[in-house]
Amino acid sequence: MSAPRHLTIIGAGLAGALLGILLRRRGWEVDLYEKRGDPRLRGYEGGRSINLALAERGRHALRAADADEAVMRHAIMMRGRMVHVDAAEPALQRYGRDDSEVIWSVHRGDLNLVLLELAQAAGARLHFDLGLAGVNFDSRVAVFADARDGSRREVPFRALVGADGAGSALRAAMHRVRDLGERSDFLDHGYKELEIPPDDDGGFRIEPHALHIWPRGHYMCIALPNDEKTFTVTLFLPHQAAAGDGPAFDQIRDTAAARTFFEREFPSALALIPAFERDWAANPVGQLGTLYLEHWHLDGRAVLLGDAAHAMVPFHGQGMNCAFEDCVALAGQLDAHPDLAGAFAAFEAQRKPDAAAIQRMALDNYLEMRDRVDDADYLLQRALELALQARHPGRFVPHYAMVTFMRIPYSLAMTRTDVQRGILERATAGRSTLDALDWAAIDADVLARLTPLEDVPA
Ligand SMILES: Cc1cc2nc3c(=O)[nH]c(=O)nc-3n(C[C@H](O)[C@H](O)[C@H](O)COP(=O)(O)OP(=O)(O)OC[C@H]3O[C@@H](n4cnc5c(N)ncnc54)[C@H](O)[C@@H]3O)c2cc1C
Repeated sequence: MSAPRHLTIIGAGLAGALLGILLRRRGWEVDLYEKRGDPRLRGYEGGRSINLALAERGRHALRAADADEAVMRHAIMMRGRMVHVDAAEPALQRYGRDDSEVIWSVHRGDLNLVLLELAQAAGARLHFDLGLAGVNFDSRVAVFADARDGSRREVPFRALVGADGAGSALRAAMHRVRDLGERSDFLDHGYKELEIPPDDDGGFRIEPHALHIWPRGHYMCIALPNDEKTFTVTLFLPHQAAAGDGPAFDQIRDTAAARTFFEREFPSALALIPAFERDWAANPVGQLGTLYLEHWHLDGRAVLLGDAAHAMVPFHGQGMNCAFEDCVALAGQLDAHPDLAGAFAAFEAQRKPDAAAIQRMALDNYLEMRDRVDDADYLLQRALELALQARHPGRFVPHYAMVTFMRIPYSLAMTRTDVQRGILERATAGRSTLDALDWAAIDADVLARLTPLEDVPA
């Protein structure tokens, strides 16, 4: 029978590998089961979202696992959004006040490799090519399918942790014994990835220290830098065209139509993608959605975290960051509770409101990225946000900073964002420049509605 402080983690992706390190450091026995092959032997088979934006919440979790330094060797600083509209020179909208408030682009494969290496070095046992196929929760036996020969393997467990992503097999198995209250909202937009290679001299073709956006109303392209001097471009576009509602994936039937669409809508991006036809044909259209669950655990026998518990749309760049925060929270609750059922319940109570908040903010951010970043009223509100941050330091903290550079609970960031949005809208209604604003009234509004805000101590 399993040792008393033993957990079996399903999925050795981003959250699973990090949790393995955190638990080993606390003396837990850890077995990690991953349905894909060992990426150290075969290369990374991730197959989607090649690079990711890493922010303070994620970095804090990496520091807790002593993994930050190794990960940051592969990371590229992104100071802000470089917005490409029409023929104008692209302009940088900084995310924060200076280079202490930035986000980082990391390659999913590099990140996963670093975490797997550290998990193994910390003493976690890694089992590749073994996908969870079923669970008997009464006898506490998990069944894994071996991808190499199709055989089945039965493995006794004390408790399972589901870090197996949005399509979680553990969640499906738990649902058979407890209604988890699952609901998925798929977005009517999907995504496709393309690549900007290095230039002829082996350097970056466009500004490397930015997240590039080509906003086009109902759709957009973004590009994030990779440390091999490439950019991963992601096109977000509706799956199907609504009446009179512009282009959609279902209307772009072949690569020639795709090129025509890019020539019309994204000529400056197209010029950077020499293998456009190859990428378009090779890379599938990905689905995007939000997963809501009422219950994340099955007493002390199983618990879900990361995308398996609360997948979200990627428009705040927080899915992984949130999953990493989950890992720290679960490890903390395991420290605080002598029994697994108590720890899992406390973890769910702690994280569910925050996951729901970042899920909503991620949906809100899509509208902002694709439709608002080049609007005059948006730019005025953004300028006011920065001015109020300077006038009321620690009290008026811009939305993006609360989510990205701080570790206050997402739910608190969301509540304050709603209050601040009201202040910004009232202040700028009918005005077009900062000089025209009624500063005394705005200051009074800020002082009346917002208390000072402190970050969670390190
Ligand atoms: C287009 C796109 C862009 C994104 N950009 C960002 C970003 O910029 N910043 C950010 O923070 N987040 C981003 N995200 C979200 C981020 O990718 C996820 O939130 C994150 O990967 C979740 O980590 P996870 O470990 O929970 O799941 P995953 O990373 O999906 O890992 C799950 C692991 O479980 C394995 N697995 C699956 N089924 C089984 C099974 N039956 N048995 C065993 N193993 C199994 C998988 O092979 C995988 O290794 C983006 C997502 C998308 C789709």
